[in-house]
Amino acid sequence: MNYTTEQISAAERTFAGAWEFVCGVPSLEFLTEADRPEIAVAGRSNVGKSSLINALTNRRNLARTSNTPGRTQELNYFMPANGSFYLVDMPGYGYAKAPKSKVEAWTRLIRDYLRGRQTLRRTYILVDARHGLKDVDDLIMALLDEAAVPYQMVLTKTDKLKLGELEKVFASVEAGIARHAAAFPIVLATSSEKREGLAELKASIVGAVE
Ligand code: GDP
Repeated sequence: MNYTTEQISAAERTFAGAWEFVCGVPSLEFLTEADRPEIAVAGRSNVGKSSLINALTNRRNLARTSNTPGRTQELNYFMPANGSFYLVDMPGYGYAKAPKSKVEAWTRLIRDYLRGRQTLRRTYILVDARHGLKDVDDLIMALLDEAAVPYQMVLTKTDKLKLGELEKVFASVEAGIARHAAAFPIVLATSSEKREGLAELKASIVGAVE
């Protein structure tokens, strides 16, 4: 545990209240005013991003979970009750069946957002603990390196792995980020199913916007 009890409970308070859906942004001209810090959450389709956002915010359906990966192509803005930051749910990437035009539109939106958003404090890249880092994750890490946006890796669905397997994926993700300039060295482990690792992730997010 890298956080004090005070930091953990302050973060719990920030996340505990009612969350507001602010807006969905299909392209950059619809971006909301850059009037507070932003935290983005990214990851491959089906990585468990919606489940994690719902678990963090204690809402069953704030972020829409979906069995049709690659469906949401918008940046979705959410805000906690104290209005201290925006949580930005980025569209999932790397869906194999997505048509080329959709992939291109996605890449443009994400690249422009990452490059241009002065208020973006940190991006969390979710990685399915069963699969580890994929080439598309490297691609987004390269985009973030280029935009000089700090990012942190979060393993999801850790309940599906045995301890030994989890240690292996930890080591491989740590090795994978070691060569990236903007990556945080600490990899967080979470399970939305078992509600594990959520307190640390909340504290990390609140720490990043302070
Ligand atoms: P998204 O496409 O990244 O938003 O992924 P979803 O949140 O929709 O999750 C994709 C699938 O993984 C769903 O069937 C979820 O029930 C499952 N899932 C998500 N998080 C977990 C987890 O922590 N543990 C387990 N076992 N399954 C999970």
